Amino acid sequence: MLKILTAPHPVLTTPATPIEKIDRKIKRLVVDMEEALVNHRDPQGVGLAAPQVGVSLALFIIKPNPSVETKVFINPKVRSITGDPQKKTKKNVKAPDEEKMEGCLSVPRIWAALKRPRKAQVEYQDLAGEKKIEWFSGLEAVIVQHEVDHLQGILFTQKCLEQKVPLYEEHGDKLERVKA
Ligand code: ZN
Repeated sequence: MLKILTAPHPVLTTPATPIEKIDRKIKRLVVDMEEALVNHRDPQGVGLAAPQVGVSLALFIIKPNPSVETKVFINPKVRSITGDPQKKTKKNVKAPDEEKMEGCLSVPRIWAALKRPRKAQVEYQDLAGEKKIEWFSGLEAVIVQHEVDHLQGILFTQKCLEQKVPLYEEHGDKLERVKA
């Protein structure tokens, strides 16, 4: 099974190369990535980008919950975003609101309430090579933006530093604020 790489690893901070031809190798990669994603536990992953398995190609998959089909994004670009990032409440600052926490399989046990636009329009190709333009909202909007960042070599922890959003580390069943 494909191994999910963790930071720091140079492939995670390298922009991915566009895919020119969706051939058998790409289809195989998608199958293998899906296997790695659905078999990941604690936490259950909701998305995985090719660089996270050491392949620097512009491809990611999402699976917002275990009962929906995996969706494949090839050469994706965020065309448009809308909706103010959710404002942080005071409550969020003191005690982390776990519902709004974003994490990454490549940055284990680290969580943060990163502010992201609520809707994102993404242009991409599906596995059949068909060009799509689609709006995403809610959890899907967060996931697609997170995964597009991966393809640009950007980890969510870097964005947290830029936005001065505190990071939390899992200690058993508690989240503790990471001291800067
Ligand atoms: Zn990630």
